[in-house]
Amino acid sequence: MEKLKLLISGEQIAARVEEMGNQITADCAAQSVVFVAVLKGAAIFLSDLVRQVPLDATFDFIGVASYGNPRGPKQEKIWDSTGEVRLTKDVEQSLRDQNVILVEDILDTGLTLSFLKRLLLGHQPRSLRVAVLLDKTSRRKLPVQADYVGFSIPDAFVVGYGLDYAEKYRNLSGIYVLPTAPVGP
Ligand code: 5GP
Repeated sequence: MEKLKLLISGEQIAARVEEMGNQITADCAAQSVVFVAVLKGAAIFLSDLVRQVPLDATFDFIGVASYGNPRGPKQEKIWDSTGEVRLTKDVEQSLRDQNVILVEDILDTGLTLSFLKRLLLGHQPRSLRVAVLLDKTSRRKLPVQADYVGFSIPDAFVVGYGLDYAEKYRNLSGIYVLPTAPVGP
């Protein structure tokens, strides 16, 4: 395993996710909510977040991929979010007239979130809010924001707590910086 540098511990994440859950619970004021998590990176965040929201709630998953994202020698995804986003898996339940909370692992350039917000608004929900665990504000290319942000982080490639590099490290409890950040061409 490459040497990873701890950025946010599992304990810090747990405390912040509890706060985010409390905020969502207060904002949704006893209404029902549908959480929509982006595969695969947001799966762990979703599972912790929903357990901090004692409302009438369901959850679903959506999948996206980026056109033009280059692949490395082992077909691994190389860190470059400049490609066009496409849908690989749509939600399975109707979102019409529902209070939807989109759950994403990390907000970087904003391309993915802009695409997903547009897509989900097309389902005509009653409301749409966005929760992201991590936000790299300095990398933004599109003017999009999340309603709930776990941690703002510097421009570094991070793994753990659902986030991968070549499908590895998703099972780590904390967030770590990969010392040799993968770069685009
Ligand atoms: P955006 O479209 O905002 O540029 O990128 C969002 C997506 O890029 C995330 O959902 C994630 O898949 C990927 N991404 C961006 N930064 C990182 C990072 O530091 N680590 C990992 N593992 N993925 C990242």
